Formats: sequence, structure tokens, C-alpha cells
Amino acid sequence: MSEILIQNVSKTYSTKDGNVQALKNVNLSIEQGDIYGIIGMSGAGKSTLVRCINYLEEPTEGKIFIKGKELGSFSKKELRKQREDIGMIFQHFNLLMQKSVLENICFPLYIHGKKKTEARKRAKELLEIVGLSDKAKAYPAQLSGGQKQRVAIARALASNPKILLCDEATSALDPQTTASILDLLKEINQKFGITIVIITHQMSVVREICSHVAIMKSGEVVEDGKVSEIFTHP
Ligand code: ADP
Ligand code: ADP
Repeated sequence: MSEILIQNVSKTYSTKDGNVQALKNVNLSIEQGDIYGIIGMSGAGKSTLVRCINYLEEPTEGKIFIKGKELGSFSKKELRKQREDIGMIFQHFNLLMQKSVLENICFPLYIHGKKKTEARKRAKELLEIVGLSDKAKAYPAQLSGGQKQRVAIARALASNPKILLCDEATSALDPQTTASILDLLKEINQKFGITIVIITHQMSVVREICSHVAIMKSGEVVEDGKVSEIFTHP
């Protein structure tokens, strides 16, 4: 059974200037343990697709299944529970600037009802996983871009998600920092078996880390499959 199955999904936004068709009949299946790249230029529909996977956006047509369960059939409560199984990281990190690194990681744990001591223990474990144990008391403004993204990864992993969605997660980073973040994602994928979906406009990211890729253009998937088969030529 696919971890994520996207079936005939279309998405049209209605705006004051008319309709924008952001997704056109998208079909994809992402298996457990894949590192799945979704590549395309700005406006191709990548963010919309990822927001649909998290059901932050409802498809206009088609269905999305996570582990065989259709998201559209979920109650609000089930959807909230489902979202705990999906971590997200972003281009601009989205950290809480007025909170310490440790408190940033504890934040989602508090929301899910964890006690302070329990949350802090878990946050410290996560800091160790991302290699930032010495920065627990620092504030985001004191960190480099790569360190901020490590904190965001730790926060995304706090609720033990099965899926990690990365939206242009390395686009604001220099090549060397990008490589170290990709190494960390690879390690997380191997160690914890987390399925990773990577949205990017950078071919180098796909080549470096992805097992599979879907190429998007104007809302459509124009090609998809194993990276080794799609990029056979240098
Ligand atoms: P990408 O992530 O590949 O840059 P997006 O999914 O952000 O692509 O956008 C796909 C298309 O949908 C673009 O034309 C964009 O302007 C449009 N779009 C995205 N979000 C909205 C929205 N909330 N309302 C209206 N149009 C949107
Ligand atoms: P990115 O391409 O970096 O994902 P965008 O600048 O395209 O980000 O979009 C930022 C936000 O604005 C998103 O939440 C998206 O839904 C919204 N958005 C994008 N395009 C439009 C649009 N044409 N009309 C309204 N909202 C939009």
C-alpha cells in the first residue's frame, strides 16, 4: 500500500481576476521510505500539491490517500491527528524568534498535550539527532541558516511523523550548507524510515538525495519515476 497516493487531483483557485488551475489531473504514488522529489519552476503547482497532501488545501477534483485512508473522508479531529504524522519544513525556517531553540522544539509537543519535563527531554534528544545539543539555550537570531534549518527539522520530527514534507528547504542556503542538510535528511530517512517529500526548483537537490522524482510543469506531472532511470544522462 502506498504511503501517499494522489489520484486524478486537480485544484482550481478562484480569484477576483478569474480562475487559476494550479493542478491538472495529477497522479502519483509515493512509497514508504522514498525520498521523493517534486521539481518544477515557480508557479508549476508544487506548493499547492504539498498543501493538498497535508489537506491545508482541498483538491477541487480527485482523491488523496495516506496509507490507504482518504483524507477527504476525515473528520476535523481525525485530520488534526493525521497532521501529527506529517512534519513540515520551509525555505524560511518559520521559527519563533522570541523563543529559545529548546522552546521552539517543545512548542508542538505542548500543543499535543505533552508535559513540560517530558517535552524538554524529547527536545533534547531531537537536538542531539540534528547535532545542535550545544545550542539549546540560543535564540534563532544567533544561529546560521543551516543551524536554523536543523532546529526546524528537530521541531518537525517532534511528534514522530511518518512523513516529512520539505518545501524549498535548502533554497535559502549556500551549497555547502545545503549538502549538510541533505545529508541529515538522508540520515533521518535511513534511521527512522521516514518518507520524505522534497519540493525544489534545484536539479542538484534531486540528483543528490532523491530516490524518485516527479517533474511538474504548469500544474501537470510531465514525467515521474526513479531518479536513476529519468536522469540517465549527465
Ligand atoms: P509552485 O509552488 O510550483 O511555485 P504554486 O502551487 O505556489 O506553485 O502555484 C501554482 C499556481 O497557483 C500559480 O499560478 C499560483 O499563482 C497559483 N496559486 C497558488 N496559491 C494560490 C492561492 N492561494 N490563490 C490563488 N492562486 C494561487
Ligand atoms: P512560493 O512560490 O515561495 O511557495 P508564493 O509567493 O508563490 O510562494 O506564495 C506565497 C503564498 O501566497 C502562498 O500561501 C500561496 O498560496 C499564496 N499565493 C500564491 N499565488 C497567489 C495568487 N495568485 N493569489 C493569491 N494567493 C497566492
